[in-house]
Amino acid sequence: MAKIAILPGDGIGPEIIRATIDVLEGIATQFNHKFEYIYDDVGGAAIKKYGSPLIKKTIDLCRSCDAVLLGAVGDPAYDTLPAEQRPEKAILQLRKSLGLFANLRPACLFNTLIDSSPLKRETIADIDLMVVRELTSGIYFGEPRQRIAAGVEIKALDTMIYTNWEIERIARTAFELAQKRHKKVTSVDKANVLESSRLWREMVNKVAKDYPEIELQHMYVDNTAMQLIKNPRQFDVLLTGNMFGDILSDEAAMLTGSLGMLASASLGSNTPGLFEPAHGSAPDIAGKNTANPIATIMSASLMLDYGLHMKPEAAAIRQAVEMTLQQGYRTQDIFSKEMTCIGTIEMGQRVKENLSNIPHVS
Ligand code: NAD
Repeated sequence: MAKIAILPGDGIGPEIIRATIDVLEGIATQFNHKFEYIYDDVGGAAIKKYGSPLIKKTIDLCRSCDAVLLGAVGDPAYDTLPAEQRPEKAILQLRKSLGLFANLRPACLFNTLIDSSPLKRETIADIDLMVVRELTSGIYFGEPRQRIAAGVEIKALDTMIYTNWEIERIARTAFELAQKRHKKVTSVDKANVLESSRLWREMVNKVAKDYPEIELQHMYVDNTAMQLIKNPRQFDVLLTGNMFGDILSDEAAMLTGSLGMLASASLGSNTPGLFEPAHGSAPDIAGKNTANPIATIMSASLMLDYGLHMKPEAAAIRQAVEMTLQQGYRTQDIFSKEMTCIGTIEMGQRVKENLSNIPHVS
C-alpha cells in the first residue's frame, strides 16, 4: 500500500485534486493496489486554518508518506501580506524542507492536441523531452545579493554559484532518467562566459563517464532557446541550472499548448517527491468546475512513475488521457469546434472509465 499526502491548496486546487483522486482510484482497481490518502492544508487554506501557509505538522506528514500530490496555492485575499507570509511561500518551504533539488518538467504532446501548439505540425510531432532543472542553488540562492548605493550610482548584484557536489547530484539525476528514456542528455550552460558554467561542464563530463551508454551533448543556453523552437525533437533530457531551467522549461512547456496540461515533479534523494501541476490556483475560475485537471492527472502519472515506481500504471494514465481527448472531450481551456465541452470532475471520470478500455490493463 502506498501512502500519499494530498495537499489540495487554494483556488482550483480542490477540484483538480478531486478529479485526480478519481483517476488514482481507477488505477487502484485496475492494478489491484491500495492507496492511502492523507489530506492536509497548505497555502491560503492553511493560513485560514492554522495561521501560516505551511506548518511543521504538514511537513512531518509529507515526510512520513511515499509521495506528495499538491493542487495549487495562491489566494488574492492574501496578496497584501509580506512575501514570507503569503500562500506561495508554502511550496518553496516544502521543497526546502524535503530537500527537493531536482525539478522535472516533461514536454510531450498529445497527438490529438497537435494543432494547439504554436509550432508547425511537422516540427512538433512526437516531441518527448524532459527538462531536469537544478532547484535549490544557482543565482536564485547565491550570496551575496544586495544593492549598494554610492552617491548617485546604485549597483545591484546577485551571485551565480554552484559547488561540485550540487552539479554532480543533478547531473546523476539527469543521466539516470535518460537511461530509462531515449539515452541522450543535453547539458545547458554558458561556459563561453561564466566560470560557474565551466565547472558545470567539467562536473557533467565527469558524471558522464559512469554512463557510457548515454550520449552527452553540451549546448549554450542561447542556442538551446533557439533549438527548442527550430528542432525540439532532437532533445531527450535537457539538464540545466536553476535560472536557465526556469526559463527553458516554460519555453519547452508552451510548445505543447495549454497551461492546463503541464505536469511537474520535484525530487530529492531518500525523500518523498512532490508532484504538482505547473499552473497556479487560477482564482478567476475557482469553484466553477471548469478547470482542466489534466496537468494534475499527469502529475499523478509522474508520481506513479518516479515516486512510487509503478511504470505500467503511469503509462496507463497517459493512455487513458490520450483516449479521452481522442473521444473529443475537452475542458473549456482546450475546447475547439466540434468537440464536447465537459467540466473538471467529468474529465476525471472519463479518464478513469478509459483506464478499463486500455487493452493491456486487466
Ligand atoms: P495561474 O496559472 O493560476 O492562471 C493563469 C491563467 O491560466 C488564468 O487565466 C487561469 O484561469 C488559467 N489556468 C490556470 N490553470 C488552469 C487550468 N488547470 N485549467 C484552465 N485554466 C487554467 O496563474 P496566475 O493567475 O498568475 O496566478 C494565480 C495564483 O496562483 C497566484 O496567487 C499565484 O501566485 C499562484 N501560483 C501558484 C503556483 C503554484 O501553486 N505552483 C504557480 C503559479 C502561480
